[in-house]
Amino acid sequence: MRLSKFFLPTLKETPAEAQIASHRLMLRAGMVRQQSAGIYAWLPLGLRVLNKVANIVREEQNRAGINEILMPTLQSADLWRESGRYDDYGQEMLRITDRHKREMLYGPTNEEMVTDIFRTYVRSYKQLPVNLYHIQWKFRDEVRPRFGVMRGREFLMKDAYSFDLDKESAVKSYNNHFVAYLRTYQRMGLKAIPMKADTGPIGGDHSHEFIVLAETGESQVFCDKAWVETDVLENPLVKEKDLQPFVDWATGMYAATEEKHDPANCPVPAENLVTARGIEVGHIFYFGTKYSEPMKAAVTAPGSETVTVHMGSYGIGVSRLLGAIIEASHDDAGIIWPESVAPFKIGLINMKVGDATCDAAAEDLYAKFEAAGVEVLLDDRDERAGVKFADMDLIGLPWQVVIGPRGIANGMVEVKNRKTGEKREVTVAQALAELS
Ligand code: ATP
Ligand code: MG
Ligand code: MG
Ligand code: MG
Repeated sequence: MRLSKFFLPTLKETPAEAQIASHRLMLRAGMVRQQSAGIYAWLPLGLRVLNKVANIVREEQNRAGINEILMPTLQSADLWRESGRYDDYGQEMLRITDRHKREMLYGPTNEEMVTDIFRTYVRSYKQLPVNLYHIQWKFRDEVRPRFGVMRGREFLMKDAYSFDLDKESAVKSYNNHFVAYLRTYQRMGLKAIPMKADTGPIGGDHSHEFIVLAETGESQVFCDKAWVETDVLENPLVKEKDLQPFVDWATGMYAATEEKHDPANCPVPAENLVTARGIEVGHIFYFGTKYSEPMKAAVTAPGSETVTVHMGSYGIGVSRLLGAIIEASHDDAGIIWPESVAPFKIGLINMKVGDATCDAAAEDLYAKFEAAGVEVLLDDRDERAGVKFADMDLIGLPWQVVIGPRGIANGMVEVKNRKTGEKREVTVAQALAELS
């Protein structure tokens, strides 16, 4: 992509309404534009990252054997009356009436709808377990939408649902999702710690919020400092078919949200307890027959009796993750994208547009990166070098390759690592070889 053709409305001034770094930087880098409170239009740079994040989520769901579907954003109120949630959900639900005066709603989540799909098609225990997910926009009329995409009203969520014959097999599904989540966040360069979370009236140990530690996080969380120091996916137990030993080991390290944390009974000595703020980037929950019972989602069991299925649901805040990644990875100059979610891998800067040698070298390198399948953004604008450097630092591409008249006369370019700031003079051929 050429910057001269790329719609990248960067801002020099810091928008007054943005209170935290990620919100500020997303606006300044021209990633999103607020259309109403908590409702955003995604501009080209933002959309590229959103799609990358969604794709990592998708790949890890697929790898875990979960089936992708796509349910609509609009749902019928009657479906929610079956579970009793239409009246219970309260003001966070956006209720809509169509021209025939039918009551509809913009889905804040999809337990009812997916349960309806399940009960329509699945009749026998032999078809279990069933695991379905989708990546779809949700609407929750949050009292206080804030921090940009972190707490939007319209936001992108991956929500998965599991259906099993009994609790024992439902826990296997739960463990499968648990591990898929760890892999997902790690691929985005994030450390998300699974913390014991509230199960409400359902009770039990099977609810974890995945939390990214950040000063600007909205919740208060507590964990053993071992969590911060350990890369849990390195434990070979994670490769076993039975994931229970892995999950037992991982959750053996204490981690709890404020609702679950009890200072009087905390097993971690004070000197090892991390007390911090955190961002909830995902939530997994086993809730038994809460929806299947009222909605009559049942199968024929081996003894031919009818059994109500056990369910779990598993959410990831896809759009919120962009905020969380930026909170975890930025500096004064701008965003620092981990390579896996970067909108482009390389920013190729032609310092002197109009100079025949620079232009020829930039075009040549650009064509070669493109041919090698490397995502590259060529700054071919006729702008001052200072503006180009500032914009490139702001949008945070992992690598910058700078072509200037002096260097290129000797066949040299400068390669800068955005994260470390390290700069090296290398030949054009070296730059190509190292970055392709
Ligand atoms: P929160 O406690 O932040 O309000 P939640 O517990 O209500 O979130 P869940 O119902 O668990 O949210 O939804 C699954 C995931 O969706 C959350 O873990 C979070 O990452 C994301 N999410 C929830 N609400 C929002 C929102 N308003 N904007 C962006 N992402 C959200
Ligand atoms: Mg909420
Ligand atoms: Mg929550
Ligand atoms: Mg939650």
